[in-house]
This record gives sequence, structure tokens and C-alpha cells, in this order.
Amino acid sequence: MAETSADLRYETGAAALVTDGDAVVGVQWRRFKETGFIRAKAVVIAAGGFVGNADMVAEHTPALASGKLFPLASTYDDGLGLRLGASVGGAWKFMDEAFQTAPFYPPSVLLTGLIVNKNGERFVAEDSYHSRTSAFALEQPDASAYLIVDSEHIEHPSFPLCPFIDGWETVEEMADGLGISVDALSATLERYNKHAAVGEDPDFHKAPEWLEPQDRGPWGAFDLSLGKALYAGFTMGGLSTTVNGEVRRADRSVIAGLYAAGACAANIAQDAKGYASGLQLGDGSYFGRRAGRHAAGR
Ligand SMILES: Cc1cc2nc3c(=O)[nH]c(=O)nc-3n(C[C@H](O)[C@H](O)[C@H](O)COP(=O)(O)OP(=O)(O)OC[C@H]3O[C@@H](n4cnc5c(N)ncnc54)[C@H](O)[C@@H]3O)c2cc1C
Repeated sequence: MAETSADLRYETGAAALVTDGDAVVGVQWRRFKETGFIRAKAVVIAAGGFVGNADMVAEHTPALASGKLFPLASTYDDGLGLRLGASVGGAWKFMDEAFQTAPFYPPSVLLTGLIVNKNGERFVAEDSYHSRTSAFALEQPDASAYLIVDSEHIEHPSFPLCPFIDGWETVEEMADGLGISVDALSATLERYNKHAAVGEDPDFHKAPEWLEPQDRGPWGAFDLSLGKALYAGFTMGGLSTTVNGEVRRADRSVIAGLYAAGACAANIAQDAKGYASGLQLGDGSYFGRRAGRHAAGR
């Protein structure tokens, strides 16, 4: 006897999985007042992430709930897919992880600058992928960070996401303008410039290609702080699956007949620090294809 294991209370695109014993045997759907049931040997959920679901974001991914980031999402990233999977026992993974970014480059010359926090300390290799830089920036005191570039290297960012703060003739004026201790900022600049001059970064191992001393004033700074820079984000958590997209329970057993792929599953794209462009799309298409092939073989 088939049982509907999720209810139809979702406001948009309502759906429910139908089970027979432990196996998923179809989908019940609703479109406005119409409803229907599709029996299937396998169901592949591919309904997007959950950044558009305020309750789920507040509960699982508070980093995206500050109201200071805009959601990088389609209209239906409402977590329906994750909730459907969970309704039949599917486990979620990496729910607290988020992609958050406010890229300050291009132009690439800005990568030669140095990024400091409110204590005047560097905390990341500035040539990192932008979501990695952003993830570290958001961990700094007051989620504040500044990109400093000298007069030889300064240019306007191609995308106006990290606002220009000001320019200063001296390091003392810059420290004052940024509210950073002069001693701390001077020491950081000196150390960075000394090593950059010989193509080295013993602290964060920035590539020599992007190491150039920032010692020709005046200096300018761009604001990478949350609430000043325009950060965008999406969720990375989702249903736990096998390499074939089969949805797993918390004990890692597989739910027969149920698959998930794309942003509603948690695969390679797991956190902002390890993210690279295309990872979500690549992950979705690769594991989506595997899920489809495996499901068709049932
Ligand atoms: C502006 C922007 C830029 C991005 N840039 C990149 C990038 O450069 N590289 C990268 O890798 N990723 C990027 N992403 C993320 C990437 O687009 C997503 O990770 C990817 O689209 C997820 O694919 P998906 O098929 O899992 O989900 P989606 O593309 O969200 O597709 C899910 C589909 O399910 C449908 N759906 C949901 N609920 C229901 C329902 N109840 N009934 C019927 N249909 C439903 C939705 O309408 C949608 O068509 C970007 C996203 C945005 C918004």
C-alpha cells in the first residue's frame, strides 16, 4: 500500500514523495487546484537550494541571515527539494556552509594590494579565489576588512561591489582614516613590502606574480566589510547522497528509489573557502547525469 510521506502544505510548487515500505515509488503533485500522482521506479529531486527560504536560512545558515547579503538565487530556491528528501528520512549535510562573496577584482592589478582587518593584520593571501577571501574577511573582527593599494597599482574595480573609501598621502593619515593603529598598519605594510620586493610572502604564500610592494603613496583603500561591500550568497548544504546520487539516511543507508542532484544535494561544493567558479554547476551536471543513469537502471 503506497503512502504519501510528505504533506502538501508547501505554498508553491507543492509536491510529496510517495513511499511503499522504505522505497520511494512516486510523486504526488499539486498545481493550483489540480493534483496528481506519478508512479515511478525512481525519483530524482533537482529543485535547487534553500537561500530563498528565510526560516531554513535562519535555522541552518545564520551567516546568510544578516540581511546584509543579497541572495544569489532563482525564485524557487525555497528548500523544497531538501524538505522532500528529509520527509522520507534523507539526511542533510553542510547545512551551515554558505557561498558568500564580494569580488574586488578585476582588474587583476588590485590583487597586488594587501588586505587588512581592523587590527591592521593581514589574514589571507590576496590572490585567493574571491569567495575564499570573502569567507576569511567575514570572520574578522566586526566582519571588517580593507584592501590597500598604492598609487602605482590603484584602479577602479570593474564591478562596483567594494566601495572606495578614500585616498591618503601618508600611512599615518590612512591608519587614522581607517580607524587602525598606526603602529600595527605600518608594521604590516613594512613586512609585506620587504618580502614582496623579493617575490616572497612567508605569511600567506601569495604567488610571486601578484607580489609588488605597495610603497608609493598616496594610498587608497576599498571597503570589503560586511554592510559596506555588496556581498551575495547562496547555500551549499543539501541532501547527503552516494556518488550515484542516491539519497542517504543519517546512518548512510540508501533510500531505495530516491535520488538528488544539484543545489539540493551536498557534493563537491561544500564551503566558500574551498569553492571555485563553476563548482555548483559542474557538481550539479556531473552528479545529475550519474543520478539519472543510475535511476534509469532500476
Ligand atoms: C546570478 C547567479 C550566478 C551564479 N553563478 C554561478 C557560477 O558562476 N558558477 C556556478 O557554478 N554556479 C553559479 N550559480 C549557482 C548555480 O546557478 C546553481 O548552483 C545551479 O543553478 C543549481 O542548479 P540546480 O539544477 O540544482 O537548481 P536550479 O538551477 O535552481 O533549478 C531548480 C529548478 O527546479 C525548479 N523548481 C523548484 N521547485 C519547484 C517546484 N516545487 N515545482 C516545479 N519546479 C520547481 C526551479 O524552478 C528550477 O527551474 C549562480 C547562481 C546565480 C543565481
